[in-house]
Amino acid sequence: MASPHLTKSRYMSGLQCLRRLWLQVHEPQDYEVPSPGSPLDFGREIGEKAHLLFPGGILVDEEPWQHAEAAERTARLMQDPTVPAIFEAALVDCNVRVRVDILVRRPDGWGLLEVKSSSRVKDHYLNDIALQAHVLNGAGVTLSAIEIVHVNTRYVRGAGEVDWPLFFTRVDVADETKERRVGLPEQLPPMHQCLLSETPPRTEPGDHCGDPYECEFWDRCTADKPADWIAHLPYMTAVRKTALEALGVTAISAIPQGFPLSWKQEIIRDAMATGQPYVSPDLARLLHGLKPPVCYLDFEAMMPPIPLYQGTRPYQTLPFQWSLHVMTPDGDLTHQGFLAAADGDPRRAFAESLIGALAGSDMPIIVYSSYEQTRLKELAGHFPDLGTPLTAIIERLADLLPIIRGAVYFPGFNFSNSIKSVAPALCPGFGYDDLEDVADGTAAAGTFVQLASGKVSDPAEVMRLRAALSAYCERDTMAMVVVHRALMALVADA
Ligand code: SF4
Repeated sequence: MASPHLTKSRYMSGLQCLRRLWLQVHEPQDYEVPSPGSPLDFGREIGEKAHLLFPGGILVDEEPWQHAEAAERTARLMQDPTVPAIFEAALVDCNVRVRVDILVRRPDGWGLLEVKSSSRVKDHYLNDIALQAHVLNGAGVTLSAIEIVHVNTRYVRGAGEVDWPLFFTRVDVADETKERRVGLPEQLPPMHQCLLSETPPRTEPGDHCGDPYECEFWDRCTADKPADWIAHLPYMTAVRKTALEALGVTAISAIPQGFPLSWKQEIIRDAMATGQPYVSPDLARLLHGLKPPVCYLDFEAMMPPIPLYQGTRPYQTLPFQWSLHVMTPDGDLTHQGFLAAADGDPRRAFAESLIGALAGSDMPIIVYSSYEQTRLKELAGHFPDLGTPLTAIIERLADLLPIIRGAVYFPGFNFSNSIKSVAPALCPGFGYDDLEDVADGTAAAGTFVQLASGKVSDPAEVMRLRAALSAYCERDTMAMVVVHRALMALVADA
């Protein structure tokens, strides 16, 4: 029986874990179209923009399952000397199929170009390219150049359209690819052999499951693990994990007293074993300066890979939304928020509206992480005339995250200090599950990029997405409110 074919992505999966390769081929998960504004969607768009570097190039637009037709078309285009470049060129050798992002005709052969939406060359890209070079070599193609094309984060957009040759950086990786091809032919037979098996290999989940890519089968492979599996313990080293496994310990709650753990790991172990939260006797002191009246502030920002505005760089962080809750001494709440218009660089309006909202008071501004402080410093640097009021806001910030990290742990935190884990644990019933369109920061950023780049223009849809953005950001400051209230109640009860 012939083995199912390999591809670039299957090969990469096989290098990471043969079980993942087998599952992807024989029991694949349903394919999900990347949502607009997601990293995968940006990657697709940047791949298409790279075609603009080679005017006259021709796209082989047959689908992945039409590989034979795509390969025939590629062969015809390679024979045609008037075609300077082929996009998504399809080739096959020894039951390994590849689609090359860009194949460029050169006087001395062909150039193989791999396009990445990242800002640098990552080591695992070389495995992907080495396989392509191996297949092209086997198919009789002479390669005279091998390059990675990635995003140049030093590029600054000018007054007009994006300058694509400046937007991209081309890196010669011919030598590195040559080194990576050593031993590659020996890696293919075990992958083909694995795919011929009727059952997946038994592979224990571990650190390799997220390196270099998060494996989509994580939930499946860890379904029989205890909810407090030792791998969830923060900062668990491989040495300690192995030592626990040797003792037959798989659950955090079963880690014996006396086993070497860090202070925080001991707190988590004890909380999981007893079901009781940890509350530091120091919590009252840490919260001392944070009595109402206080306010709670959260930002949302986008990092568009393709700069939208003059003077901005790829992946530059641009805040576009803030939410502010204010709690009076009586515990009453008021809320206001800002969501930039989608017709230009949002930063000036963002900064001015925030300064206006916080003027005239000196109450502490509670945040959760240093994210807001970093954004405010960037804004102060970009708008020197707003430096004084922005610096005054920075000086009022009070970060709740270090207090949670150092002084409180509830079993429901699920081994995370993220506000999305902490708030529901401290305030049962609170959550984000009812937010459908925008339920996390990545979705918020992607949604605003869609609006700002004009990809969503239907007025009703624009209104719906803006309402979703507002609801999400308000929920994040409300999360801080419920966490702060819960902490104050813990102190009051002590
Ligand atoms: S979760 Fe880990 S063990 Fe399971 S298939 Fe993926 S990489 Fe392999």
